[in-house]
Amino acid sequence: MLKSIDFAPLRKVLELERLKGYSDTAVIGGLDRFLKNWRAKTGKSITSPKINKLFKELQPGDFSYAALGLRQRQAWIDSVINFITKDGKSESAAKIPSPTRTNTGPRVFKTPSYSEKRRSPTVKSPLGDPVTVVKGISETLAKKFHKLGVKTVRDLLYLFPNRHLDYSQKKHISQLVAGEEQTIVAHVWEARVTMPGGRRSTEATLGDETGNVRAVWFNNPYLAKTLAVNSRVVISGRVSIFHGRPVFESPEWEFAEEEDLTHTGRLVPLYPLTAGLHPRQVRRLMKQFLDRWIPQVTDFLPPELLLRDGLLELPEAISQAHYPVNAERKDRARVRLAFDELFLLQLGVIKKKRDWQQSQPGHPFNTRVPLPDTFLRSLPFKLTSAQRRVLDEILADLQKSLPMSRLLQGDVGSGKTVVATAALLVAAANGYQGAFMAPTEILAEQHFQSISEMLSRLAEKSGEGPIYRFSGLLPHPLTLALLVGDAKQFRKQELHRQILEGDVDIAIGTHALIQKGVEFRRLGLAVVDEQHRFGVEQRSALRQKGFNPHMLVMTATPIPRTLALTLYGDLDLSVIDELPPGRQMIKTKWLEPAKVDSAYNFIRRQVAEGHQAFIICPLIEESEAVQARAAVTEYERLSRAVFSDLRLGLLHGQMPAAEKDEVMRRFRSGELNIMVSTPVVEVGIDVPNATVMMVESADRFGLAQLHQFRGRVGRGPAQSYCILLAENPSLVGQQRLDIIESTQNGFTLAEADLNMRGPGEFFGTRQSGLPDLRMARLTDVALLELARREALSLFAQDPDLKAAKHRLLAQEMARVWKEAMTEWS
Ligand code: ADP
Ligand code: MG
Repeated sequence: MLKSIDFAPLRKVLELERLKGYSDTAVIGGLDRFLKNWRAKTGKSITSPKINKLFKELQPGDFSYAALGLRQRQAWIDSVINFITKDGKSESAAKIPSPTRTNTGPRVFKTPSYSEKRRSPTVKSPLGDPVTVVKGISETLAKKFHKLGVKTVRDLLYLFPNRHLDYSQKKHISQLVAGEEQTIVAHVWEARVTMPGGRRSTEATLGDETGNVRAVWFNNPYLAKTLAVNSRVVISGRVSIFHGRPVFESPEWEFAEEEDLTHTGRLVPLYPLTAGLHPRQVRRLMKQFLDRWIPQVTDFLPPELLLRDGLLELPEAISQAHYPVNAERKDRARVRLAFDELFLLQLGVIKKKRDWQQSQPGHPFNTRVPLPDTFLRSLPFKLTSAQRRVLDEILADLQKSLPMSRLLQGDVGSGKTVVATAALLVAAANGYQGAFMAPTEILAEQHFQSISEMLSRLAEKSGEGPIYRFSGLLPHPLTLALLVGDAKQFRKQELHRQILEGDVDIAIGTHALIQKGVEFRRLGLAVVDEQHRFGVEQRSALRQKGFNPHMLVMTATPIPRTLALTLYGDLDLSVIDELPPGRQMIKTKWLEPAKVDSAYNFIRRQVAEGHQAFIICPLIEESEAVQARAAVTEYERLSRAVFSDLRLGLLHGQMPAAEKDEVMRRFRSGELNIMVSTPVVEVGIDVPNATVMMVESADRFGLAQLHQFRGRVGRGPAQSYCILLAENPSLVGQQRLDIIESTQNGFTLAEADLNMRGPGEFFGTRQSGLPDLRMARLTDVALLELARREALSLFAQDPDLKAAKHRLLAQEMARVWKEAMTEWS
């Protein structure tokens, strides 16, 4: 009788196997061996016809669990467990554990559907385990994956292919067309080692019912043995014509018997690789890995959201992003994964904004003080209407007790500094301190000088070096200080003390302003210039310097609005969309290096007319140091061989600040004719007498960056020029250069740049403090807006993600935003 059969061990193993994602790892040696043993042990006592039927139907003679695909494994285990539960229960109730919850995990008697996993209590996700838990990944292999940024199982799930090869076009041999990627299913008639060009290679003759074709694998003699005569293979690759006959050269191949194609006959993934990782190996490994682990993935998005927006479920999306069944599914997978990135990003920035605004009240300023108007009237120009509008937006914010959080965009030369200065003066007039942070020392120095100059038009200036005082504007002298990284130590300490005591009204500086040791007495307004150089974290650091100061961040990188909302969703947006009147068109021309002499002659003539020029050295990505050395070499070459009769200066990021200042001073004063520089002059530098900007290897730079360079000239009355040298630019490169030749509008250029290069390159470096965007394209406006809408509506309903249905989302938020938002975990 059945009573003598103990199903418990079988059930335990099967349940464990289900929990492990059907990876055949529940028992050592695999399920097949276990089943064999279990049958051998219990078989004798099987007398029930039902049990016999079970084994006949579910486990026929050649049954092998290991050979089943994922879905089949799932189905098989379901039915066995069902069987023992239903049929076994009536006959042997005592021996079978009750089908409720085990104390270690979720419900086990039904396939845990994704929606059910949602409700299950918090279990530490196995996806956070190191990749070495994955079958087939040894410590050595894991090290190679580390190089690709893969540390955990989750990282591996999200190691998406760079792209897919479309090998889905199956053809008969007679239909093959030269030059296209195609797939055939054929028999191997012959495979032998040959020596084309002295390289030991494999050459095979393959045939189907329509004809024969040759395939050659260069440098791979081993394949000749593997490709047994008469075996059926799938071959995918480009066909070329050799001696009038088609041939596959080093195509992908696999045996046609494989249940599920990995390398051929489908959309085949091309994974990022590193030394010691090979395409076939990674594909095979990923395929097995995905089959086993995808069932462990739980969806963190609320089901109603998925339904509403027609998004794929997460496990399906991940699976389709790797091994898509077709192009349409692949796209939908990307949309779902991109949505996740944008949605989590949006939720994060919205929350940051709320937290920051709620943490402490801000400080409302009285904006009807006379100082800003006195200042504006003293300027030799009138604000443009765009400047006026933006200043009013800022003043309206400053009156509120909610701290301002505003992004000010304005093209190069649109006059952001004046607007910021007016706002800083309001802070000073209200008895608060202002901070003005610039990304480079050169720029900080320049702001310090130009603001001092503007102020000295309406007040008497005293003091020197890093502190100026202006009397008569406020009851006390208005004090301006410059704080940069390598000021002398005692100087720095002295400045820190004065800032702490509130003796400094406006502190201008670099990162030095947010370093430890700098404390403000009453920081009321922080201005950050050239925001794209700073990350979210630095912004927060500056915020923490004061009791929740108003914050104005400025950028000349014209970020399209949707993109701004995504990356700076915590900021309100103001745009100066108009240049001061009388700004000239800068004549822009790109040249091939053969014409460089004419460019040098042109510079010489401009210098003869009393003007000055910049020459920007090629961008070298390796390191600042390499970049600096290259600039030194170019400077020496130009000084010796090209402009030996002129006075040249050199500027690069590795020079001590004092040297930089000195060379900038000499250039500004006209003592130097030509400034040879690394791309450090990109931002903000203002030398009105410079009329030529020449950029070497211009095709290496983004359009927005070239536009920044170009903005360094045309700042005075004289006609100015921008010369772009490009060696052999690609077709896209030429298009980009054509665009910059023909347009001066920074926004148009930025959009073009974004479309052509994608956001990663657009920003040069990844924005610090923001989660990665890998699948999202920032040009995908509709998706961006959808993500923002959903994030806002979710935030309105459940800002702290306390609802049970948002628990997994809360966990995911905490993971993506790491420590920054631990309260969500
Ligand atoms: P950016 O927005 O690139 O930072 P700046 O603030 O450096 O631009 O301004 C560029 C130049 O234009 C400066 O020399 C500044 O004095 C001048 N400027 C600013 N506003 C106006 C205006 N409304 N009319 C004329 N010149 C202006
Ligand atoms: Mg500026």
